[in-house]
Amino acid sequence: MDRESARQRLEAERARLEEVRRAADHLVEGVEQAEQTELSSLDQHPADVGSEVFERERDLGVMQQVRQELDEVQSALRRLDDGRYGVCEVCGRPISDERLEVKPAARYCVDDQARLERGARLRPQ
Ligand SMILES: [Zn+2]
Repeated sequence: MDRESARQRLEAERARLEEVRRAADHLVEGVEQAEQTELSSLDQHPADVGSEVFERERDLGVMQQVRQELDEVQSALRRLDDGRYGVCEVCGRPISDERLEVKPAARYCVDDQARLERGARLRPQ
């Protein structure tokens, strides 16, 4: 993939992720405000509180993922500037165009990505 189209893809991806992050920020603020309002009301049902905590954790999980993806896109843009874009960080081989089409911020080739994911699952939490 040539640098220009890679950059365009990454910029578009960054814009999209920033949009999602902004939306998620509002969502979390909304939940916090709702919680403060509810603290003053006494007829609260415990089951509702439980599901709200669950919802909130799910939102925070999404935000964490968005932030991580944003980091990856930004570091891919830096690699593009350094001329290291599209090269696997583990084995140094070029990452295939097909893979970069699907995941423009990819840091590893398919083989190393699979290896790393297996390793991450084996590692204790
Ligand atoms: Zn590799």
